[in-house]
Parts: sequence; structure tokens; C-alpha cells
Amino acid sequence: MIITSNAHDFRASNIAFVPTMGALHQGHASLIQQARQWSNQVVVSIFVNPLQFENKSDLEKYPRTPEKDAQIAERAGASVLWLPNPKDIYPGEVATVEPGAIGNIFEGQSRSSHFQGVLTVVKRLFDLVQPQWAIFGEKDFQQLFLIKEMVREFQIPISIMPGKTIRDSDGLAISSRNVRLSAKDRESALVISQALISAHEKETLSLMQEALEKVLSSEPLFRPDYACIIDEDTFELAIEATPNKRALIAGWVNGLRLIDNMPMKISAR
Ligand code: AMP
Repeated sequence: MIITSNAHDFRASNIAFVPTMGALHQGHASLIQQARQWSNQVVVSIFVNPLQFENKSDLEKYPRTPEKDAQIAERAGASVLWLPNPKDIYPGEVATVEPGAIGNIFEGQSRSSHFQGVLTVVKRLFDLVQPQWAIFGEKDFQQLFLIKEMVREFQIPISIMPGKTIRDSDGLAISSRNVRLSAKDRESALVISQALISAHEKETLSLMQEALEKVLSSEPLFRPDYACIIDEDTFELAIEATPNKRALIAGWVNGLRLIDNMPMKISAR
């Protein structure tokens, strides 16, 4: 595996690209393994993007584990680990990418300018890497949706591939931020996947919504932001007739924000 900060070291026509912010875990590894199915030129980037952080302390506290990252990336099948310098990503003025209306709801409502920061950096990374495929996790479902929209709108010739959410054995979606959960916080955080699973078992929209609320309210240490069922093709709130429903949950445990989501049963009305 090549480790470099210079995009000129790996330009190729058939790159499968996995952008990350580092602190790699099994979720990232599964995206890298998936990328290997399309190409033997898998480029993994690590760039902690200041533009997408609301407050400085969150950015500073973001975990950084460079040696472990290199091991995980290599073992999962990366051919290149790209560690771009901030000045190469943002050389002076970079055109910001506006996410539109869907960028202002759910994650965008409580984190203003978050998706503008995400799309701006992803567009810039795409310009520098010029991959054929790029893989993004369903864990950040709204991000995946907005990136697909951006690619459509700008007619960027890159196939955006979704990667399934990888969970720990207790059901918690793996996240770089989970290291900041104490054992007790983690117990509380399990309510999120439990609520999603409970909703997944229901056949009607109202039963799904009821299940989300009931399970989440059983954990006093979980402070919900939103818990709702959307139409995953439009990101609007689902109606009974929506075929592809997905439940989204966001909230805080002991000040740490967690998000998760799960597709609901296709047949469910
Ligand atoms: P991050 O480093 O958090 O910016 O994430 C980089 C990529 O990994 C994004 O596409 C995320 O959606 C994806 N990702 C994060 N956590 C998981 C997970 N548990 N399972 C699958 N993909 C994930």
C-alpha cells in the first residue's frame, strides 16, 4: 500500500474511492472491501474536514489514530492511503457547494452548514482523485442522499455506491465517536438500534412510529433530536403508501450526538 499526501502519486482511470475522516473501524473496512469488488485501485482518504464541524472543540476532540488506520486500510485491501494536506484541499477560495432544501432538515437543522461543508469537501476530493466509483456508508443516510443528488446535478461521472451499516454485536452502529461513550453511556445508546429493530418488525407506518417513540422513551438518558420514517427516494416524511420507508434516529447520550437508520420492511404499508 502506498501512503502519500500527493494525489499525483496515484492517478488512474479505474479508482474506487473511499473518503473518510480517519479513526478507521470495521465500518470503514467493509467499505474498502466492497470497493475491492469493483477495482484493484482502491484509494482511501483521511481528511478531518474543518468545514463540516459546528464547533471547534468537536473538531479538536475528533479521534486521530494514524498508525492503526494504516493497518486497517491495508488489511481491508486499500492500494493507496491518501493523507491530503489542508492547503491542497482548500487552496485559497474553493467554491462551496450548497445542498438545497434537504440539507437543512434532520442533520442539517441542528447542524447548520454541516452538509455544505460535506459536499464542498467531497466535490473537491472527487476533483483531485477523479474516481470511477465512490463508496459511502448508509450509516450517514442523508449524506449519501445529498452526495447522489450533487453528482446528478453537476453530472459528475462517478458511480456512488452505498455500503451497509456495520454494527457491533450488541447492535450499536459502529462510529469513530463511540470511543467517547462510557460503558454506561453505551448501554443507553443501545436504545437506538433497539427502536429501529422494533419499528422494522411492524407492518404499518403508524405502528412503526409508535414503536420508535415507545422504545426511545424507555431510556431516560437518551435525549432524542428526531425519530421519524422517511421515503428514502425523496427524503420526505413517509406516507402509508411509500414503498421504500426508512427510519431515522438522532439524539444525544451524555452530550454525544449519535445517528442511525434502518430500512423498514418493503411490504409494510
Ligand atoms: P467518517 O470517517 O465518519 O466520515 O465516515 C467515512 C465513511 O464511512 C462514510 O461514508 C460513512 O458513512 C461510513 N461509515 C461510518 N460508519 C459506518 C458503519 N458503521 N458502517 C458502514 N459505513 C460506515
